[in-house]
Amino acid sequence: QANERESMYLVSEFAQQYFQDILIRHEKGKAIGLSYFKERGFTEDTIKKFKLGYSLDEWEAFTKEAIKNGYKLDYLERTGLTIVKENRQFDRFKGRVMFPIHSMSGRVLGFGGRILLTDKKAAKYMNSPESEIYHKSKVLYGIYHAKQSIAKEDNCYLVEGYTDVIQLHQRGIENVVASSGTALTSEQIRLINRLTKNITVLFDGDAAGLRASLRGIDLILEQGMNVKVCSFPQGEDPDSFARKNAYEDLVLYLEGNSRDFISFKASLLMEDSGNDPIRKADTIRDMVQSISKIPDRIQREVYVQECARIMQISEDVLFNTLAQLGKKNL
Ligand code: ATP
Ligand code: MN
Ligand code: MN
Ligand code: MN
Repeated sequence: QANERESMYLVSEFAQQYFQDILIRHEKGKAIGLSYFKERGFTEDTIKKFKLGYSLDEWEAFTKEAIKNGYKLDYLERTGLTIVKENRQFDRFKGRVMFPIHSMSGRVLGFGGRILLTDKKAAKYMNSPESEIYHKSKVLYGIYHAKQSIAKEDNCYLVEGYTDVIQLHQRGIENVVASSGTALTSEQIRLINRLTKNITVLFDGDAAGLRASLRGIDLILEQGMNVKVCSFPQGEDPDSFARKNAYEDLVLYLEGNSRDFISFKASLLMEDSGNDPIRKADTIRDMVQSISKIPDRIQREVYVQECARIMQISEDVLFNTLAQLGKKNL
């Protein structure tokens, strides 16, 4: 078992090296992959630090090279790098720029691959499948490069995508990781919890994503961590915003726009529900749900007071709802 996992790590590390070599040395890799990353504003240092790569737009260029170098098809298939179908084999990430995904200790667990032209019908990003070494729910993109900075700054920025992590790094903000499109899990939060009790969630500037993410944040409260949130202007994400702004302005923006999660959510839901009593009642229940996740009693009480103020209702209503919820959960 351990041997087999080790073989899967080794073939993944070979793939990481191969895709980077193609990106930096191969004519097509340079013309297509490297120029794509350069257009996105990534420097060569950044590309090397994150071991970015390119997978040629050919059916089995990578698979053939791996087998020539002595890697077994079985492990290529089990890592998902190669798809085997009716005795034929295909490179899963054909024609994509490659983002290796590293463990806390820097081993390669899997890859994200992005198509270059988003007008194709194919999914913009594709990931390695779940495997013995890649458990999506337990991985945070960027954790290996961020861990020291998270501990030092005693805060972790949580973003949506690979490019957000990379661009913020390049701008000098290194305490950042991404959930990479999947819903946040408790295991992912535990990885951060080992390094700091403070998380700031950075949302892309689109309302849909923001409201969909609120529930996941309760999982952070559950672990007794402090959560702030910060959103970006309409149409911007941390990557695009960081590209347009110098380090100092970026830091000013983050400091000026990070708000405590509970009060942020209360204000947001109050805006949504307006004067409709039924929707306001739903909002109250929703807020109490979130507050009930906080393990510390004193902290819960402070938030009840804060929410009562924002929602213009009495604290008693909130405390009663909280108590009822407590009984139900017993
Ligand atoms: P880019 O700037 O390259 O367009 P992004 O990171 O801004 O990428 P978003 O659309 O904001 O992309 O999505 C955030 C993250 O969600 C991505 O980084 C990726 O991990 C994941 N994701 C997005 N689209 C898909 C998809 N079609 N399939 C799987 N994962 C996806
Ligand atoms: Mn998004
Ligand atoms: Mn985005
Ligand atoms: Mn983006």
